[in-house]
Amino acid sequence: MTQLNTSSRDFDCVVVGGGPAGSVAGAYLARAGLRALVVEKERFPRFHIGESLLPAGNAILREIGVWEKVEASGFVRKYGAEFHVGDQPAMFKRIEFSAGLLPGCDYTYQVERSRFDKLLLDHAGALGCAVRQETKATAARALDAGEGWEIALESTTDPERVETVRAGWIIDAAGRDNIFTHPLKTARVDSGGNLPKRAALYAHFRGVARQPGKLAGNILIVRHADGWFWLIPIDAARTSVGLVVSMERMKSSRLKPAALFEKVVAESPKLRQLMAGAEPATDFFVTADFTYRSKNFAGPRLLLVGDAAGFFDPIFSSGVFLGLHSARLAAAAIVRAEKKQAGRALSAAAQRRYTRALGQACGVFQKLICAFYDNASYAVFVDRHPPLGMGRAVNSVVAGNTRLPFRVWWRYQLFLLICRLQRRWTFVPRIEWETAHSAKAMAAASPMEQEVAAH
Ligand SMILES: Cc1cc2nc3c(=O)[nH]c(=O)nc-3n(C[C@H](O)[C@H](O)[C@H](O)COP(=O)(O)OP(=O)(O)OC[C@H]3O[C@@H](n4cnc5c(N)ncnc54)[C@H](O)[C@@H]3O)c2cc1C
Repeated sequence: MTQLNTSSRDFDCVVVGGGPAGSVAGAYLARAGLRALVVEKERFPRFHIGESLLPAGNAILREIGVWEKVEASGFVRKYGAEFHVGDQPAMFKRIEFSAGLLPGCDYTYQVERSRFDKLLLDHAGALGCAVRQETKATAARALDAGEGWEIALESTTDPERVETVRAGWIIDAAGRDNIFTHPLKTARVDSGGNLPKRAALYAHFRGVARQPGKLAGNILIVRHADGWFWLIPIDAARTSVGLVVSMERMKSSRLKPAALFEKVVAESPKLRQLMAGAEPATDFFVTADFTYRSKNFAGPRLLLVGDAAGFFDPIFSSGVFLGLHSARLAAAAIVRAEKKQAGRALSAAAQRRYTRALGQACGVFQKLICAFYDNASYAVFVDRHPPLGMGRAVNSVVAGNTRLPFRVWWRYQLFLLICRLQRRWTFVPRIEWETAHSAKAMAAASPMEQEVAAH
């Protein structure tokens, strides 16, 4: 087994990317006394989508000691989530996190990512992690003796400024637009199941209607037969609003993003009401075809975290949570190897363990995502009075809990079973979706529907 020559290292670990996953990984490593470097190609603050946090992530933010700073930052408190049916204003489900089955998840925050991400990156720096902004990692070469990596870094403001650093480990936290190449990157698969490929069109708006009191901080999801909107209040005046539609619908509309967005808003009574008088405060952004995952999340000296590992669908705001969760797991694997195993590379079993642990957490959300996109299951999801505490179990999953104790697990499984059965039998009143055309488009290849139809 290779014993690591730590004196030839510039750093124990280079973390590529200073988003939430990279910063939290850097923070954990620094807390454990390892020499970590986070390289980030942008200068923070910078715009990023993904503003709605999940309460289950609070514990991680507490563990790295940044929670008090988050609480003091004036972000909008999020006590819950609301799921509406677009053209039926009376039909919606409100999830209050405090009513879930698992304690400690009463609220979290809606965050303007430019501020939140800077807060986390600065915190990693304050814990002793080296941070270099406007620096991109362009390539990594494995050192001959298997002791680690040589990583090529380049300044994004002065391409003449290039350097190579040596490190025992790499954590790839470079997100979706990942230009950093390494062997695990090549084995990417679609993570969207058989669901049609989708695109998101979004902007920040001023003047979007708000609910009174504590409800004002909730995320609102408005689902239509062939798409859905998110509305996330990010401060007293501005709301992040996004539309998710199938790529097919976006292409066939032949409309520019803003025009398609306005058209779909105009078609929805709920959105018309919420957006009356709203004005865009930013340009429109488009993110297309966002579901993918790497086949393996770990190599002997390389771990993928956050969006660099995979991304499933934004509907349940799971992205940042999974970024924090994977950063914690990855840092723990490296700290264990460094402190207890003389810096040895991860064994094949340890690599599989990491892939399995992260895959398990992703799987909990993935099932819920499939239920959301399935027209029949969505009726079960928005049912306001499910028996046997099933609603409270689903609440705990929506809050981001992925390690489910038995009392939550069996209720969640029962909920998923009823979702499937609802395709054939009517357990809760069905939703009459707006148009036959759009209902077909949304359901096109929903895995649950295909599966039931096959029997
Ligand atoms: C439409 C949409 C809506 C979403 N809504 C939500 C939501 O409401 N809630 C939620 O939790 N999640 C949401 N997400 C997901 C969320 O945006 C991501 O999951 C989250 O940002 C992942 O964090 P990360 O740290 O892995 O990656 P990022 O936040 O993307 O950070 C990666 C960083 O790496 C840097 N980088 C990239 N390449 C390099 C390189 N070679 N060298 C150096 N630096 C590099 C980038 O500049 C970037 O700052 C949404 C995603 C989409 C597409």
